[in-house]
Amino acid sequence: MQRIDKIITILRKNSADSSTALRYKKPFELLVATILSAQCTDERINKLTPGLFKKYKGPAAFAGANVAELEKDVRSAGFYRNKSRNIIGASQKIMKDFGGRVPENMEALLTLPGVARKTANIVLSSSFRKAEGIAVDTHVKRLSGRLSLSKANNPEKIEKDLMKIIPKKDWLDFNYLLVNHGRKICHARKPLCRECRLNHLCHSFGKMV
Ligand code: SF4
Repeated sequence: MQRIDKIITILRKNSADSSTALRYKKPFELLVATILSAQCTDERINKLTPGLFKKYKGPAAFAGANVAELEKDVRSAGFYRNKSRNIIGASQKIMKDFGGRVPENMEALLTLPGVARKTANIVLSSSFRKAEGIAVDTHVKRLSGRLSLSKANNPEKIEKDLMKIIPKKDWLDFNYLLVNHGRKICHARKPLCRECRLNHLCHSFGKMV
């Protein structure tokens, strides 16, 4: 078995969940939750979104939202000015160009304001079970470096490196496997290397302070 297959097998065995922690009922709700989750925790977003989706029931409601009011509604997510504008812009484009439905492919998703590859990958993998890439967030970035899966710093380059070595069948949940491992064991500040089931495969074992 190749090293990457061993890593994935161990991550799978030790991961209770292999989907996004963001709560949503429809693809559009996941899109909004993912836009809101930038630089914020999923827990905080999960507290915010039930009330938000009760008030704004879908893309038409967000497309016609008052910016100042939406800013107040999403203030707790941080960067609320940009996020509000992006959510309204994305909703307007979904209404105008995509018949009120979240598009189901990377190319179209990337035309929405506030949607880069990470958000598009999360929506595609979780809502539509489509793997067009691998979402690179802060956990994936950190762990890809520590596990020597990529030497790059830029998320798009890291994604390209990962897409070369991760078997396509694992693209759908690779992000979630690394996120879970990052949250539980491979913490940003003090990774629990002694407890880590990957330590015999990790080039950073013994080098982390
Ligand atoms: S051995 Fe340490 S650095 Fe390597 S994956 Fe495990 S926790 Fe992270």
